Amino acid sequence: MSKKELAIALSKLKVFEKPKMKLEQYPTDSEIAAEILWNAYMKGDIEGKEIADLGAGTGVLGMGALLLGAKKAVFEDIDAEALSVAKENQALIEQQNSLKLDADFRVCDVRAFDEHVDTVIMNPPFGTKNENADTLFLEKAMEAAEVIYTFHKASTKEYVDAFVRNHGFAITDYWEFDWPLRNTMAHHVKRIEKIKVGAWRIVKVF
Ligand code: SAH
Repeated sequence: MSKKELAIALSKLKVFEKPKMKLEQYPTDSEIAAEILWNAYMKGDIEGKEIADLGAGTGVLGMGALLLGAKKAVFEDIDAEALSVAKENQALIEQQNSLKLDADFRVCDVRAFDEHVDTVIMNPPFGTKNENADTLFLEKAMEAAEVIYTFHKASTKEYVDAFVRNHGFAITDYWEFDWPLRNTMAHHVKRIEKIKVGAWRIVKVF
């Protein structure tokens, strides 16, 4: 599967029907998801690996990893409704590609997640509604894996960089995107507002 094909496949997946503002439910744009997943694939962080998608929502990141040959993906989210959409997405992909995906679903607060995997790929809440939500996810990801791909607001870069380094991880890559926030939430005035979002690849330092 090429990067373009991946982006197309991901663009067909379902997203939140009624996003819950207090949980900061913004889906990752399919083009951006494909870009990061493709980079992860090229670095050998996906094929044959066990992946965790923390705050998985409707599952675009984990499903993309499975499409690129991940051995297994665990989808974790506090919202059961979001994960049931993720399950529908799994069924959709399996049907369209005549394949079987090894996906597990965990409805729980990220604080309760206690599995170990090869790679975490996550787009957690940015912490605009729940202060520290972003660092809560980062801490958990660092317990769960030695290689992590994570999205945060670009404006918090200095803070995230310092947080990562203070926790025994190194930043190997950083990408920045114009992130479309579609008008799915009442407080957005413009139809599509764009914010700058960064993606970090971080690895544990031994
Ligand atoms: N990763 C998905 C969704 C991003 S939105 C994507 O890229 O499309 C952030 C997700 O984090 C939402 O699905 C929300 O339900 C979940 N979330 C928010 N707080 C959480 C918490 N404390 N524990 C687990 N999941 C949480």
